[in-house]
Amino acid sequence: MTEIFTGNFTQQEPIPEDAIAAAMAVLQHGRIHRYNLAADEAGETALLEREFADQTGAAYCLAVASGGYALATALRAVGVKPGDKVLTNAFTLAPVPGSIASVGAEPVFVGVTEGLVIDLEDLAAKADQAKVLMLSHMRGHLCDMERLMEICDDAGIIVIEDCAHTMGGAWKGKASGRWGAVAAYSCQTYKHVNSGEGGLLITDDEDIAARAIIMSGSYMLYGRHLAAPGPEVFERVKYDTPNISGRMDNLRAAILRPQLRDLDRQVQRWNARYRVLEEGLRDTPGLTVVERPDEESFVGSSIQFLLLDWSPEKINAAIARCAKRGVELKWFGGAEPVAFTSRYDSWRYAPAQSLPASDRILTGVVDIRVPLTFSEDDCALIARIIKSEVSSVFQAQ
Ligand SMILES: *Cc1c(COP(=O)(O)O)cnc(C)c1O
Repeated sequence: MTEIFTGNFTQQEPIPEDAIAAAMAVLQHGRIHRYNLAADEAGETALLEREFADQTGAAYCLAVASGGYALATALRAVGVKPGDKVLTNAFTLAPVPGSIASVGAEPVFVGVTEGLVIDLEDLAAKADQAKVLMLSHMRGHLCDMERLMEICDDAGIIVIEDCAHTMGGAWKGKASGRWGAVAAYSCQTYKHVNSGEGGLLITDDEDIAARAIIMSGSYMLYGRHLAAPGPEVFERVKYDTPNISGRMDNLRAAILRPQLRDLDRQVQRWNARYRVLEEGLRDTPGLTVVERPDEESFVGSSIQFLLLDWSPEKINAAIARCAKRGVELKWFGGAEPVAFTSRYDSWRYAPAQSLPASDRILTGVVDIRVPLTFSEDDCALIARIIKSEVSSVFQAQ
């Protein structure tokens, strides 16, 4: 009997009951704008910022409208100007180079390794080309963060971490987002907490924090923040920092606070599913499992494997055969951008760059989303289907 999978790869879990109750309370009082507060009310957004700062150990936190907005705000807050070059990963998603382009700067792509992390040798070779690195922990893979910080510190490069896929992740026990000068998270539906849209920015730098808060559209109400520097810092920056509105609202913040409290448990559930998929994919002819280093604590909300040196036709055939059996794979190496996936050469607003060693890897990257609505049995079934279809296409070549 041919097994078929019938689950939905984009179906997340429902919003938890306590989050729904908190959202209803906001709807009932109607004060959805973050600065619309009753006397003595802190507000859901300010409380979210305080709690996320505590959870990550950061001094300051700002909640904003999206992860992409948090990235662009971080770039502006560290002083990136139009025409500047910004180093970033060749393997990432479109909002990352997009945030660089949104401030008029130019992405300089750094290669990717077979471990799907930034190529630190390529980074060292390009370290003299920019003063800022936007480091995307793409698909939750963390590089050797100590080595990366050494390269960047030596070259005077400011590091911005894109933690869209590493909320809850760490390298050698130090949280992702706490290595660079500033970090950005996404609370969009497909990430680790779900408010539809939303973003969080953390930093220990008081000037970066104050500039980010003013830019986000705080008007002169920054005194209502609970994870912000003191008024004297805002005095220094308030006249020359533009308002580029992109605030979080109290409704989204209300939905997020209970989810963040539950993050550790969700991470364990994701990783249990990930390990079942990983084990199930092992020993598939032609398929390379991406091994996770011991130093890395990751969040298995997606899993990748490599079909190295396969022709595009064979990769397409394997993907089509899996799709017929209900298993939706995403191919990051496809020549045309499709849905959420695209390659660095599709971002034609950036100057054309050639990364042949990375191209070989990127051409073979296949991705599976792992929503928590899947059971571990579902994951075992998905792995069986991939294993059988990939093997038969591989063996036919
Ligand atoms: C989703 C995502 C972002 C941006 O998040 P949005 O909230 O969609 O703007 C940034 N980087 C990566 C790698 C992402 O996947």
